[in-house]
Amino acid sequence: MKLVILGAKESGVGAAALGKKLGYDVFLSDSGKIEGKYKQVLDEKAITYEEGGHTEEKVLAADLVVKSPGIPDTAPLVKTLRQHGIEVISEIELAGRNSGAKMICITGSNGKTTTTLLTHHLLSTSGMDVGLAGNVGYSLAAQVAEDAHPAYVVELSSFQLDGMTKFKADIAVITNITPDHLDRYDHKFENYAASKFRILQNMDADGLFIYGADCPMTSKLAASSEIVPPTACFTYSDAENIPVATQNLSGYAYMEGNVLTAKLGEKTFTIDKNKISIKGRHNVYNAMAAVITAMKVGIDNEKIAEGLQSFPQVPHRMETVGEHNGIIYINDSKATNVDSSWYALDSMTTPVVWIAGGTDKGNDYSPLFGFAKEKVKVLICMGLDNAKLINSFGGLCPVVSTASLADAMREVEKYATSGDTVLLSPCCASFDLFKNYEDRGDKFRQAVKELINR
Ligand code: ADP
Repeated sequence: MKLVILGAKESGVGAAALGKKLGYDVFLSDSGKIEGKYKQVLDEKAITYEEGGHTEEKVLAADLVVKSPGIPDTAPLVKTLRQHGIEVISEIELAGRNSGAKMICITGSNGKTTTTLLTHHLLSTSGMDVGLAGNVGYSLAAQVAEDAHPAYVVELSSFQLDGMTKFKADIAVITNITPDHLDRYDHKFENYAASKFRILQNMDADGLFIYGADCPMTSKLAASSEIVPPTACFTYSDAENIPVATQNLSGYAYMEGNVLTAKLGEKTFTIDKNKISIKGRHNVYNAMAAVITAMKVGIDNEKIAEGLQSFPQVPHRMETVGEHNGIIYINDSKATNVDSSWYALDSMTTPVVWIAGGTDKGNDYSPLFGFAKEKVKVLICMGLDNAKLINSFGGLCPVVSTASLADAMREVEKYATSGDTVLLSPCCASFDLFKNYEDRGDKFRQAVKELINR
């Protein structure tokens, strides 16, 4: 059997390793350059590959194709493969077909990585043998091949889900669904949302579906028995009365003042939200999803509480990178859409020196206008084209325009005083001035260190 892999990054190289172990004749093809560290793995495993383009004839010789989630279904080669009746799946699908492990799967528009890492932390610090995989950076297929665990916490993007057909999650979490990546979904929000709900396909009565009730799109679709299989449902909200419109409800989590309560059958877990290491309303949601999962797999309340307190900061997600002269500096570089910056500004309790900007993805900034008026001391735009930000926020708060991090930091020094928070939460992609959001966040962290140490 010939297995062809398209795309040689973490997921592709992981799929190749698993394919090889399963006895497939594996060939890997990448249209760009393959990084040295991945070439080394392929050479070590004697896996043949090509780079700088796909040789159609070799790809079409496949019995099964694993496609990188970065390659859209509309790519001509993918269309040709389908015309030839060749099955095209994702790396997670390949891993799922060849593993009997329990799969705890997490998707959503925002909060996937944080919820995945926190869930994994709660489970692993309580002594459970559990792998961490998916979009969070570690290939599930590679682990199934070489470092198998009886259970995995897997972060899934909609692109991974699109290539999944037989995969069965045991626990599935949808954090929220807000418009994103619509260019890959015919610019239709409902197509993107349907892709997220693929996480539930093949689940049965033993499964558990956990979702955020305060997200209108998620709770609307969760109420449909045509979409949700006959699996137990859990929901969570930061209100006291959960707007539950779901079948088979077997538990929920809610807030009463500062107290988070989660109920599952006879079990009840409570914690003061101030004891949770990561802050903000969005992180209360993420904590709820992780807590419910931990309760379901049988972790003790005491261990769950310890894990919520010891969870380390996640880089680039509301990460405190400095505190000096009464000013707090926060790196939220991963906030590349309006919804994630909404939660960042929502969680601010001091005047904010807000750094935003970059490559605009067709943003509507109006949900942030209230925060701009109430909380933002100055908006420092940081991008090659700041016109849209300036026009949107001009009348609401002071706005300055910069086109580099160095200039933005000079403005920070002019405006920030004791009691303020300097927040990098860009709302935008980073590609105009930086390699990616990690590069932007790392450089900001470094600039803050230099400013503090001067
Ligand atoms: P994802 O993996 O889905 O991109 P992350 O956990 O990496 O999610 O967070 C991305 C951005 O969204 C960060 O700015 C983070 O502070 C914010 N965020 C995290 N959790 C949520 C949530 N539940 N709802 C909205 N925004 C969130």
